Amino acid sequence: MSENKIPYKIYLEESEMPKSWYNLRADMKNKPAPLLNPGTLQPMTAEELSGVFCQELVKQELDNDTPFFEIPAEIRDFYKMYRPSPLVRAYCLEEKLQTPAKIYYKFEGNNTSGSHKLNSAIAQAYYAKNQGLKGVTTETGAGQWGTALSMACSYLGLDCKVYMVKCSYEQKPFRREVMKVYGADVTPSPSDTTNVGRKILEEFPGTGGSLGCAISEAVEVATSTEGYRYVLGSVLNQVLLHQSVIGLETKTAMDKYGIKPDVIIGCAGGGSNLGGLISPFMGEKLRGEADYRIIAVEPASCPSFTRGEYRYDFCDTGMVCPLAKMYTLGSSFIPSADHAGGLRFHGMSSVLSQLYADGLMEAVSVKQTDVFKAAEEFARVEGILPAPESSHAILAAVNEALKCKETGEEKTILFGLTGTGYFDLVAYEKFHMGEMVNTIPTDEDIRKSLDRLPKV
Ligand SMILES: *Cc1c(COP(=O)(O)O)cnc(C)c1O
Repeated sequence: MSENKIPYKIYLEESEMPKSWYNLRADMKNKPAPLLNPGTLQPMTAEELSGVFCQELVKQELDNDTPFFEIPAEIRDFYKMYRPSPLVRAYCLEEKLQTPAKIYYKFEGNNTSGSHKLNSAIAQAYYAKNQGLKGVTTETGAGQWGTALSMACSYLGLDCKVYMVKCSYEQKPFRREVMKVYGADVTPSPSDTTNVGRKILEEFPGTGGSLGCAISEAVEVATSTEGYRYVLGSVLNQVLLHQSVIGLETKTAMDKYGIKPDVIIGCAGGGSNLGGLISPFMGEKLRGEADYRIIAVEPASCPSFTRGEYRYDFCDTGMVCPLAKMYTLGSSFIPSADHAGGLRFHGMSSVLSQLYADGLMEAVSVKQTDVFKAAEEFARVEGILPAPESSHAILAAVNEALKCKETGEEKTILFGLTGTGYFDLVAYEKFHMGEMVNTIPTDEDIRKSLDRLPKV
């Protein structure tokens, strides 16, 4: 190991940080399917979308052709507070596994919000501020996105209203308080502050809420309050665009040392970190300049790619949002309450869905007990306490490295380590107590939910 010139951590100079985001859609021959208006089933126009999202973001959402979008100087300055993020050579993990594979991970947990979500939160808040808006609304489940958005809004002096799924609000007070540190207005959802919330409370008094319900409340407030728009932390094309900063930094760092990954692995909830990490590599693949194996890792409890269908569906359980064509389990699918490992979204980014349909990437699903085992093994040798979401990618990377051990292949494996697990210790506790189980939906569960998809 000593003669190896590649450092444990590859950092970039500030001057080497990306100045533009890369729009992968520009290089896709088969473009992702457009969002549809659920009423007319026609593609959503910029005008329709601009009631919900701010203008510049609508442009980014609909643009399938412009390859690069300049990152505004103010966002680049904000990035400099916590970026570039390190690309780490996992020497200790390699040693532990006794594998000839070379393993690298891009670590996005080095900021207070604890994940990659800040990369898009600052961009979305910036464009809202630039348009002269007063504030933004959003939903959050466990709280990573809400925390990231609160940080971005406080930096720019923008109001931030977060609808937080009620059971998380009550059971996970720490993220809630971090959001309040950054001045966000956090409301447990369902609440009596919106029509949709009051209706749900009347129908289901005492409900702990759901992400779908929180989205519906956040959208209602954004569209009915002067000077507010709604923002979303994953799934959308614009979010993948902003997250391309992860992949661009990784590519620059690897190029510096002449490293080429053979396999690129990322966890997939709505697809934003994976879409961002792979973007410049997938661009090369689409242009026929290089080839990479790309693997999305999802929980067996919520297996959109591996067991869902490529169809038009609602992005939310409340069915107020536009329809997106994606691999989906159906917007009425709710993963088992036993599932503690995150990545609970029923659908998937339209960009990644099209790439998967075209055979340009693979997907695997993994069980959460195996995920936590891999997380702990990783923490013990690499030091970082990983988020359960990120640990899906760790497990898949370890499995690939163990295959190399069998075959003797010296493959280079790259994976995205999206965040830290300090706020997920209740899930770790469950794992330690031996109380964690793997509840995997039956074919019938999935069929029932898919049967309720809109007929498009
Ligand atoms: C939100 C989140 C994810 C999943 O979201 P994607 O949009 O699929 O990237 C993964 N890891 C962490 C730490 C997260 O907070």
